[in-house]
Amino acid sequence: MTSSGKTGQFVSVCEVGPRDGLQIAKTRMTTDDKVAWIVSLAAAGIKEIEVGSFVPPRVIPQLADTPEVVAKVLAALPNLTVQALAPNLRGVQNAYHAGVHKISIPVSVSDGHSQANLNRTPAQSIEMMRQIMDWLKAQPRKVPVVAGASTAFGCSIDGVVPTAKTVALCQGLADAGVDQIMLADTVGYAHPAQVKEVVLATRSAIGPVLYGLHLHDTCGLGIANAVAGLEVGIRAFDSCLAGLGGCPYAPGASGNVVTEDLVFMLESMGFTTGIDIPSLLQSRNILHAGLPAEALHGQVPKAGLPPTFRRAA
Ligand code: ZN
Repeated sequence: MTSSGKTGQFVSVCEVGPRDGLQIAKTRMTTDDKVAWIVSLAAAGIKEIEVGSFVPPRVIPQLADTPEVVAKVLAALPNLTVQALAPNLRGVQNAYHAGVHKISIPVSVSDGHSQANLNRTPAQSIEMMRQIMDWLKAQPRKVPVVAGASTAFGCSIDGVVPTAKTVALCQGLADAGVDQIMLADTVGYAHPAQVKEVVLATRSAIGPVLYGLHLHDTCGLGIANAVAGLEVGIRAFDSCLAGLGGCPYAPGASGNVVTEDLVFMLESMGFTTGIDIPSLLQSRNILHAGLPAEALHGQVPKAGLPPTFRRAA
């Protein structure tokens, strides 16, 4: 029995570095380097990895090789859940035919972010999601959709995002038939009390379709926000090795919450993740070899694993 009393509860950690982490990287990572990095992440015990994005190559050149990455990773790692992002029906069809196991689809809560990033209104996104779910239901292979409710806690364009607006969008996504919803703190403005409020309000509207949190560490509150989510029953998180990426408007800030720090916290608290931290630290070396110009973040990697650390039983 640990002091937390959480022994044995599993928390799912989905590594999104090869997608979210690379989006604004200044140099290109080769396909083989990406695959080597993903293989090392899987070897560390990560079971779900978002390996790329089925967007037109000109939109995000860094992710233009996603079909090749998916093919190589499917061949090399038969036990990995291979996830990819798709922004629209065309992207979903390409991801499906590439053989991915799970598709993430971003939908913005705020009108400004929705127009700027997706070129449609949130209501149009719901309509698109209905068409996507209809198409997927007609296919022979079941591929679940996880919708990412972007700017669920605040927006760099619209500012404050009312909780009711986030809940309403999630309700529309659930009605459209998505399998899971991640509440995404896309710009990293959330704080722990807000995380609890939005999680509880969303869950009371849509129940277990609310799956997890996608947190960014722009203001240094990523880990605190993860704790807040755990305290209200969230058991799934997206994270990024070395906190790769970041926000173009927040110089020096890391991108997603750092996988190494998140796993350290979860395992220390008695939550099992199946992930080995020393192996994650080795995976950083492989990432660095493939992307030498990019800053690597994370407190546990800097400090080293404390001698008091014990993995959850
Ligand atoms: Zn993100």
